[in-house]
Order: sequence, then C-alpha cells, then structure tokens
Amino acid sequence: MTIRRLAIIGLGLLGGSIGLAVKARGLAIATTGWDRDPAVRQRAAERGLADTIADTPEAAAQGADLVILCVPVGAMADAARAISPGLAPHAIVSDVGSSKAAVAEALAAALPGATVIPAHPVAGTEQSGPDAGFATLFAGRWCIITPPEGADPAAIEALSTFWTQLGSKVETMDPAHHDLVLAVTSHIPHLIAYTIVGTASDLEDVTQSEVIKYSAGGFRDFTRIAASDPVMWRDVFLSNKGAVLEMLGRFTEDLTAMQRAIRSADGDALFDLFTRTRAIRRAVIEQGQDDGRPDFGREHGA
Ligand code: NAP
Repeated sequence: MTIRRLAIIGLGLLGGSIGLAVKARGLAIATTGWDRDPAVRQRAAERGLADTIADTPEAAAQGADLVILCVPVGAMADAARAISPGLAPHAIVSDVGSSKAAVAEALAAALPGATVIPAHPVAGTEQSGPDAGFATLFAGRWCIITPPEGADPAAIEALSTFWTQLGSKVETMDPAHHDLVLAVTSHIPHLIAYTIVGTASDLEDVTQSEVIKYSAGGFRDFTRIAASDPVMWRDVFLSNKGAVLEMLGRFTEDLTAMQRAIRSADGDALFDLFTRTRAIRRAVIEQGQDDGRPDFGREHGA
C-alpha cells in the first residue's frame, strides 16, 4: 500500500510541519489541509503548508490514502466524525496526539469499521499555530506507532514508511505503555514546569521583576516548557490521567526523599542522585536527542 494522497486535519505546529516536510523532501504525495479557523486556512495557503486547502474536513479527506488528525487530543473524536463522510474505504486514519490509549478508543468509536492506526511523533516545540511549523521538525526524532490489536500489517507498514520518509525513526508500542513512558518523559516534566513557573509568579516576597531578572539561574529553561500551548496540555493531562497520576505519585515520593535528605543534611543522598542524573544527560546527548554544547549552545558575553 502506497500513500499518494494525504489529508492533514489541523494546520498548527504538527499539521503544518507534516505538510512542509512532505514538500521539502520531494515525496510523491499530494497534500490537502483543513483547519477549523478560516484565518488559519488562509495563512496555511500563504505558507504552502499543503498543496491545496479544503473548505471542509469532509472535502479534505476525500480520496486520501492517509488522513492525519493534528488537533488537540480532546478534539480528536469530533475531527474523526467530521472527516467520516469523505473517507475512502481503503483510507488509513492516524493522528499525532500526545496520549494514545484514550485517543485510540475515541477514534475507534468515532470511525467504526475504518482502518485506524494512532501515532505520536515525539517532536515539538513550545510554539503553536500555522506559523510555527517547519520542515525539519521530525528529522532524527522518534515516531511511536500504537496499532490496535489485529490491525492490518500493510497499513502499519505504510504508516511506518510515511514517517520514515519524513526523517523519523519509528517504533511500535502498546498504547498503555506509550502513555506510561510519555508520562515520565514529557507529561510530568511539563507539569513540573507549569507548577514551578506558577509558584514563582505567586510569590509575595520575591517580585515578578526579580524572577525575570535572575531567570538565567535555571528558571528560564522551565519557562520555555511552561509556554507550551494551554489547550493542548490541558487535554494531554485529562486524557492521560491514569499514567500521569501514577508517575506523579512516584515523583512525589522521590521529592519527599529529597526534602528529607536536605533537612537531615544527608549530602551523600543528594550527591548520589545528582551523579546519576548527570549520566542520564550524557546518554541523551550521546543518543543524539539534544545539543551537547554547554547551556544548549546559547551565546554568552559581549
Ligand atoms: P497547534 O499548533 O495549536 O495546532 C492545533 C490545531 O488544531 C489548530 O489549528 C487548532 O485550531 C486546531 N483545533 C483546536 N481545537 C480544535 C477543535 N476542537 N476542532 C478542530 N480543530 C481544533 O497544536 P500542535 O502543537 O500542532 O498540536 C496538535 C496535536 O499534536 C495535539 O494532539 C498534540 O498533543 C500533538 N503533539 C504536539 C506536540 C508539540 O510539541 N506541540 C508534539 C507532539 C504531538 P485553533 O487555532 O482554531 O484552535
């Protein structure tokens, strides 16, 4: 099965980047895009996020071999219902949602009988909207595919090939396991960033201007993550509730252990943890998942 026509539903960071990547890599795939906001559709046409911009989700899906839903996870079911009348019998429906078990369930219920293969490209930035997308977003990043039990192997293969053609490395995973892994690697870090930035902004004895002025002490790195799209992240936490709460329980216990180590002046406990975490950072860099330059390669001085 070869993907020749692709429909992209939602033309923000992820949807726009898919369209731009297809074009930049010269793939023989015709793209059609749709977004619910007419102003976004116009901007998408100006930026060339897809070859054609459709006026309705149904029209966008017509004749597509692959339809990718690129909307917040809480909007996936509605988006699936909206494309349904235009869907070709052979079409594969996929998505880019950051949580998988709840999305898989919602898509299967919204599209009975359709070939649904959910996926999650683990690539993104804190930006959103039609100006945020760029062609290299997926290059060298992982895309996790979570096929339902009994899914058509040819459809899984076609979707894997598509993501590989965009430059991604592909892995297949069970949706529940995906949600647990992403809870600890992405969802909890975002929750911590949102919380620490919120805590700092609520402090009464440290002024807002001091928080911003001295942010290079570490705080500013949290502000990047905490600037991520509020709708997207609200939906991620609501849809991955079980795994997030489980990991949050573990994290809270570890935080309490750190609190105890500081209170009892247990320097060895602090040193041991900080040594282990430093090794994790080295492994992230060694596996090409981040820039190894100090301070993310930021310019200093002058
Ligand atoms: P985005 O830039 O905000 O784009 C989302 C698009 O969906 C926007 O055009 C938005 O339109 C539209 N939308 C919002 N609510 C909708 C609804 N109820 N019905 C139809 N369309 C709706 O967000 P994104 O970063 O591309 O995220 C899209 C998906 O990718 C999410 O499921 C997210 O979990 C996943 N993801 C994100 C990242 C990341 O780092 N950002 C990484 C991997 C996966 P409006 O502008 O009108 O709201």
